Amino acid sequence: MIERLLVSGGVILAVAAPVAQEAAPGALSPRNASYTIAARLDPARRTIDGTERIAWRNITASATGELQFHLYWNAWRDTRSSWMRERLLAGGRDLADRPPQDRASMDISSIAVNGTTLPFTYIAPGDGNTDDRTVIRVALPAAVPPGGAADIRVTWRAHVPRTYARTGAIADYFFLAQWFPKLGVLQDTGWNCHQFHAATEFFSDFGTYDVSLTVPDGWIVGATGREQSRKANGDGTATHRYRQDDVHDFAWTTSPDYVEFRQTFRHATLPAVEMRLLLQPEHKGQEQRHFDATIAALRYYGEWYGAYPYGHVTVIDPAWQSGAGGMEYPTLFTAGSRWMAPRGVASPEGVTVHEAGHQFWYGIVANNEFEHAWLDEGFNTFSTARAIEQAFTPNYLAERYFGGFVPWVFRDIAISRATDGNRLGGYRSAARMDAQITPTFRYWPPTAGAITYNKTATWLHTLERLLGWDTLQTIMTTYFQRWAFRHPTPEDFFAVANEVSGRDLTWFFDEAVRGSHVFDYGIQLLRSEHDRERDRHDTVVAVRRYGEAIFPVDVLVTFEDGSTARERWDGRDRWTMYRYTRAAKAKQAVVDPDRVLLLDLNYTNNSRTLVPRAGEASRKWMLTWVAWAQDLLMTYGFFV
Ligand SMILES: [Zn+2]
Repeated sequence: MIERLLVSGGVILAVAAPVAQEAAPGALSPRNASYTIAARLDPARRTIDGTERIAWRNITASATGELQFHLYWNAWRDTRSSWMRERLLAGGRDLADRPPQDRASMDISSIAVNGTTLPFTYIAPGDGNTDDRTVIRVALPAAVPPGGAADIRVTWRAHVPRTYARTGAIADYFFLAQWFPKLGVLQDTGWNCHQFHAATEFFSDFGTYDVSLTVPDGWIVGATGREQSRKANGDGTATHRYRQDDVHDFAWTTSPDYVEFRQTFRHATLPAVEMRLLLQPEHKGQEQRHFDATIAALRYYGEWYGAYPYGHVTVIDPAWQSGAGGMEYPTLFTAGSRWMAPRGVASPEGVTVHEAGHQFWYGIVANNEFEHAWLDEGFNTFSTARAIEQAFTPNYLAERYFGGFVPWVFRDIAISRATDGNRLGGYRSAARMDAQITPTFRYWPPTAGAITYNKTATWLHTLERLLGWDTLQTIMTTYFQRWAFRHPTPEDFFAVANEVSGRDLTWFFDEAVRGSHVFDYGIQLLRSEHDRERDRHDTVVAVRRYGEAIFPVDVLVTFEDGSTARERWDGRDRWTMYRYTRAAKAKQAVVDPDRVLLLDLNYTNNSRTLVPRAGEASRKWMLTWVAWAQDLLMTYGFFV
């Protein structure tokens, strides 16, 4: 999704896991959790009645005597769920104060496994909250061995809420995600089926989804997959059947108001993608901006990491005030436009590129979002900024006034990837709040987004500057292709990074990911004195590590005759000192002159200039810093 809570604001080489050998010929994924669903929406009552049949296969090395399912919508049933408790901790009283009819529920009528109806119990594996009803366990009469299968049938009724977490309804606009009882992921260590938490998203196995959706006749439907058939039922409803292979989720939307557009993405080396856009009627005229942003993601992510393999994608423009914008689902995502979207500002393009980009980091490389949300959100925030820079430069700062209605574009402040694109300002506010490697659902809720999105993007950009883009791109391509249609962990990424770069980067991941230390290098002292006896200038430069985190840095000293001295410091001690005896007096000393270490929390101490700073040079320098600081502050404000 697009982060708004806090800073608030090739061809794929289908490298199958050994366990995937039983998958169908031509399958990209193991397809071990396939769903056939029939669901009927009653818009007046806001209910969904559903039946599902899950063909599940145990692809682990261990037998299991139980099944675990997510019932996500029960997070919005009352204020005692773990999701709601965490959201209240992060500030969100309005969500809790809603009337009962705007809340959600998911009630199971029956679960049968291999023809036997079985009882179920609610469990709370993450926090022991016995009031949470988002996970159930079903004990099996007979264990399912490795390679064994189960035929699971579930019937349920759900109440559609006023939108929570991008899911729900407003008037006759429905956006429905996490809307069916969904299996957790069985791993060699047991079931991984976390309760629904406020700061995390989802995790599930790949399969084929074959879903029949019954809605009022004449309503437009958008969904994961391609429409297979549509038939009027003669009772005022129509049933739309959608199907998709090799995905791990299914979301859909329906409304009588959508206006439909189609275009095709074409590229010299990437497969064509049919793009379907369902636009709100009042946004007619903005369709090309949605397509162009989707094309940017398909193009640059495709060129950098690997091809989008599904051949089609659906872009949803959510209804005004629906709260459903900026969220990713397989082959479908929600964008989000705004009144008077000015040219030269990458909005709505930013959100569209980001959500389209999630088709790669989330959709194809499917990490566990409960535990390591940064693996998709952070990688995608970094990739979004890079794609935006390629496709939409120049891109200017914009502010909105008069209650957010009237945009004003600051054409003298170009948005830079180093600040806006990687959200340094957003990271700074939460730098010490949690070690990034902490399971995401255990992050301090009010600052989880800052680490998940901003810190990750900033350290990836730092890695880009440390290793060079060619090396980082090769790392990310290798990681993408090796882990496509599988579930990587952070250690899997670190291993690829070390292997591909040919360097042991453990020290960097220890600092940036495994810990919560902050980086801050600065010039503590710059002194240059005239030695009359020798008619030379003695210069002393002291560089200090103010933060706990360690990173090798360059130090550049410039002298008045234009000569320079460049030093390389391993950055380990608390400080180091350099001395020079030269004809010229020193002018300036800078630590990290190339700004490799974008994680440095305080750039204002990174340079010292000997006074007096006269003339044009100092003014120019000052203006640069003022513009930079302004950019940063405004960037922060922009996302609030
Ligand atoms: Zn996202």
